[in-house]
Amino acid sequence: MLRETTLNNPETPEGERIPRAPDRDSPGRDRIRILDRPVNVLNMEQAVARVRRAWGKGKVCQVVTANVEMLHTSLQDQELARILEEAELVTADGAGVLLAARMGGSSLPERVAGFDLMLACLQEAAREGVPVFFLGARPQVLQEALLKISQRFPGLTIAGSHHGYFQDKQGEAIVNQIRVRKPRLLFVALGSPRQEKWIYEYLDRLPPCVAIGVGGSLDVLAGKARRAPAWMQRAGLEWFYRLLQEPSRLRRMSVIPLFLLKVLWRRLSP
Ligand code: UDP
Repeated sequence: MLRETTLNNPETPEGERIPRAPDRDSPGRDRIRILDRPVNVLNMEQAVARVRRAWGKGKVCQVVTANVEMLHTSLQDQELARILEEAELVTADGAGVLLAARMGGSSLPERVAGFDLMLACLQEAAREGVPVFFLGARPQVLQEALLKISQRFPGLTIAGSHHGYFQDKQGEAIVNQIRVRKPRLLFVALGSPRQEKWIYEYLDRLPPCVAIGVGGSLDVLAGKARRAPAWMQRAGLEWFYRLLQEPSRLRRMSVIPLFLLKVLWRRLSP
């Protein structure tokens, strides 16, 4: 399948960097701002519908599942800020984003966590025959996750996969592999913000697909990491469960109250 952008511009040779997809689904229309960073106002069903619409368009685009740590990082990291701005969709990955939205005077309907979005999209991809590529995680974890995925979604076409432990200079070769396999849905699980930057860097060289950063989701699928019980997720305590599992995340997570205080400060400032 040719990229539509290539069809529109027949003189653009294969592999050459082409202008970033100009027709995103009107970003801004359904976004709120939290400390100037955009988050789409969507529930899970609407997010999946947007992803399906995007893969149906035959263009390449990026979906970011943002938690508070990522939003906080983007206050200092201009590249990440640009990625959020240009993404087709930014979903609220964690309960902290919902809380931050409320503290800032707006609201978001519900969490659209990367893991849940991935499962919901895989379900649709299996139903519609949309091929999927997975990039990320340790080789063994990736294999185990792929096995679980093919058991859970028997009709799914897994176009290809690559583990996430490669050097930056291998990025080009991996993109070429993805181009050959022509997925329409690409999950990148390299951890944040590396996965967001990786997708953004190669966006114009990827085949027409929806590229979604999903953090540690493959570890969860492979059974190497556990998600919080449903009641903890509902109570907005998944972050606490993760902290208990991985105490080394404490430093990373310490920005969460800081970010919330900044939101409150902005709201109360005249
Ligand atoms: N990872 C990877 N390559 C790397 C570093 C990490 O593929 O060079 C994977 C890692 O194996 C894990 C995921 O990226 O599957 C990161 O998971 P984490 O839960 O830390 O995601 P985050 O919370 O940073 O989004």
